[in-house]
Formats: sequence, structure tokens, C-alpha cells
Amino acid sequence: MPIYEYVCDTCHQKFESLRSIKEADSPIPCQYCHSTETHRIVSVFFAQSGGKVIASSGGGCGSCAGGSCSTCGH
Ligand SMILES: [Zn+2]
Repeated sequence: MPIYEYVCDTCHQKFESLRSIKEADSPIPCQYCHSTETHRIVSVFFAQSGGKVIASSGGGCGSCAGGSCSTCGH
């Protein structure tokens, strides 16, 4: 089971939880303040193990050559 990272919108604490892939995006209560205003963040480990780098800014899919790209739209 993968470990997912979540951040609480109420107290801004990060916490991790072991969940099945099916449950990854379902609401989870904050482990600190028990608020349900939380959302999942992609951990570094998860991004790397996915086999591709998730671009944080600038866009592009790797095959972009500066013009329009039919793969990613950039
Ligand atoms: Zn919280």
C-alpha cells in the first residue's frame, strides 16, 4: 500500500497515511486537529517512483521544442 501525504487546510500540518489507491483522493481527517478540510499532496517519493518528473512550473512534456506540442498542449 502506498503512503500518501496530506496537508490540512485548517492547521496547515502535513501528515502521512497508508491507504489503498482507491482511497487516495477520498477525504481524510487531519491527524492533528481532526478537521476534514484536507487535501492530498504528491510526495517526492511518489513522483519519482512514477517514472516521470512532474513539472512544477513552465509546463512542457519533455518532447516540447519551444513551439506547440501535440503531446501536452504547450
Ligand atoms: Zn489540521
